Amino acid sequence: MRTTEGTGARQSTLRSSNLALVLRTVCAADGPLSRADVAVRTGTTRATAARLVDELVAGGLLDEGERLAPPRRGRPATPLLPGARIGALGLQVDAGLLAARLLDLRGRVVAERVEEDDLVGSDPARTLARLGALATDLLAGPAGELRLAGAGLALPGLVDVERHLLLRAPNLGWSDVDAVGLLAAHLPDGLRPVPGNEADLAARTVAETAPGRPGPMRDFLYLSGQIGIGGAAVVGGQVMTGSAGWAGEVGHVCVDPDGPPCRCGSTGCLEQYAGRHALLAAAGLPLDTAPAEVVARASAGDADVRRALDAAARALGVALAGVVNVLDLPAVVLGGHLAALAGPLRPPLEELLGRRVLSARWRRPVVAAVTGPPAAGATGAALRALGDVLADPVRRLG
Ligand SMILES: [Zn+2]
Repeated sequence: MRTTEGTGARQSTLRSSNLALVLRTVCAADGPLSRADVAVRTGTTRATAARLVDELVAGGLLDEGERLAPPRRGRPATPLLPGARIGALGLQVDAGLLAARLLDLRGRVVAERVEEDDLVGSDPARTLARLGALATDLLAGPAGELRLAGAGLALPGLVDVERHLLLRAPNLGWSDVDAVGLLAAHLPDGLRPVPGNEADLAARTVAETAPGRPGPMRDFLYLSGQIGIGGAAVVGGQVMTGSAGWAGEVGHVCVDPDGPPCRCGSTGCLEQYAGRHALLAAAGLPLDTAPAEVVARASAGDADVRRALDAAARALGVALAGVVNVLDLPAVVLGGHLAALAGPLRPPLEELLGRRVLSARWRRPVVAAVTGPPAAGATGAALRALGDVLADPVRRLG
């Protein structure tokens, strides 16, 4: 922490960066910290740490817990926690669901609404009006007492991050949609969610266990298994979004150029083998079959289901080995329906990665699965908005 004297402007910047450092330190900790802990971890004096903490407590960004009995002699320490009254709204529209989720600064889900539906080829205005109504309903409940620090919108496709437009979502069948404008017309006054790619945002839920608190894995390729397959490469806990924000479209990596046509206009893309609908169709099952049913049928020896799973695992192995060879990532994390199918998919996938990744002899790629609540993109959208608070708490304090 820097404590040099300077002009008013420089002191204001110092205050801003010092407050951010203290807030991030409390949020990153595995358990509650005292003011003295904060002083040690930020390398400042107890008096300075206490003053900054007091300012964050007054602004609601930190809460004081029940005082703890001191381990030895001395005054009882007051544990500090991220503010429970600061929240963010995460929204998601996908080809298979609509979701609205409120998270607080501790990363807890305060309230949520998730509606599953087949939205392939749906009308953007009508679908986003539905999502707006879902979010408005959520905010009108007890969760509405949270101070909303921001909102985000997870979209399953290419997003123009400058102009906040959805350029293309192949599985929704949407192109050049002002998703934020259409949605904001149905949200409470002035609320305009920041859009982002669904898989990029969902990957955040693996990189962070709560706002600003690192997860156990910092470098991995995340796969979002939906009707389509989204992807995101995470390095050092940060999503690699690419030069325009369009990186990570693993679902459209070609597995076989002579394969079936894809909604993107190409042929033989990964999601034509391992996407939810493609896999169920290949298994001869209805498109609303739950992953658990697929696993049960495979265990029972259903030959069609086993063949479809083997084809999906092979396609994943070919596509992911290519990505891992290029990006040098130690782990692949399966999300969405791919996580639920990890039991039968993992052994052949690991075998293929072991065979096709050049460096596998020295470090065999790990295949992990995250089975959380549906709509991880909505959670990630809220995490991103709360991350903005951690980066610049003064904007919330004034
Ligand atoms: Zn494609």
